[in-house]
Amino acid sequence: MREPVEGPREGFQEVKGMAQGPGFCPEGEEVKKTDNTKTKRKEIPPRELRIKAYNDVLKLGKRGLSLTKIREEIHRKYGVWIDTTTISRWLRGVSSPYNGRWIPSLELLEPSEDLANVIGVVLGDGYTREKGDRCVIGLKAKDKEFVEKFGRCLANILGRKPIRPRKEARRYVIEITSKTLYELLKKPVDLKRIRRYVEHCPKCAAAFLRGLFDSEGHVQKAGYIYLHNTNYEVLVYAQRLLWRYFGIESTGPWPHKQKGTTMHDPRTGKQYKTNEDCYYLYIRAESLPKFYRNIGFTISRKQKRLEDYLRRTGKI
Ligand SMILES: [Zn+2]
Repeated sequence: MREPVEGPREGFQEVKGMAQGPGFCPEGEEVKKTDNTKTKRKEIPPRELRIKAYNDVLKLGKRGLSLTKIREEIHRKYGVWIDTTTISRWLRGVSSPYNGRWIPSLELLEPSEDLANVIGVVLGDGYTREKGDRCVIGLKAKDKEFVEKFGRCLANILGRKPIRPRKEARRYVIEITSKTLYELLKKPVDLKRIRRYVEHCPKCAAAFLRGLFDSEGHVQKAGYIYLHNTNYEVLVYAQRLLWRYFGIESTGPWPHKQKGTTMHDPRTGKQYKTNEDCYYLYIRAESLPKFYRNIGFTISRKQKRLEDYLRRTGKI
């Protein structure tokens, strides 16, 4: 069994402040000025201590103690101060140290390039899974820098410690639990819901597209870039963003493989049948320099291939 990923530490920090972590995107019109005076990190008690304190808070609450009294009691017993807002949330059952909600609702999730990138990756290679009350967001891929970046973005979004990938056969894996992110990213992804984050500003749009192209974009030796996805709507959306923000032209979505087509997996040498329809976009050759300048790849082998092509043909 794996160790569970470091869980949430809700309530011990300002939630709004955390949502504006290192990846916070200051651009765009939707951003409201917030009071930053309370965003300073406090000393965070370890998880076991928080859980103990939580159980005591519930007991003291049942005895009818006021929030301030409970706060004092917890401090006397454990030497930590828990803010009354957290105590109130615990008592009302809105949150707990158990339930995986550090950023307790989508409303508190701020747009950022990191979040846009994560959305793009999850629409591509990433996955979501609900198992009991564990809501998992994950990525398994062979390019280390890609998976590491995903981990950094997740840590920034959720204000958690950096998450390092583990190795599984020849792949790197990152998994985290977050109910809030799960609600946003569970498949099939609701495009209306992600727009607020993806279309926040050109930088966020670029970060989203980079995540998507890192996942399912393919650069041929001849420089052509294709983007595959089983979700037709996702490709139409990507196409619109490419054009609207960066003037990048693409054609498609074209059908790639029909459901039930027999495919050959070059990795395993086995035959398999596709279980979903697949479509692709094709980036027009004259737009490749724009794609390179504005979007590009995190995955170095893809970026290098594009760069080599552009240099070879004198386009950069
Ligand atoms: Zn933005």
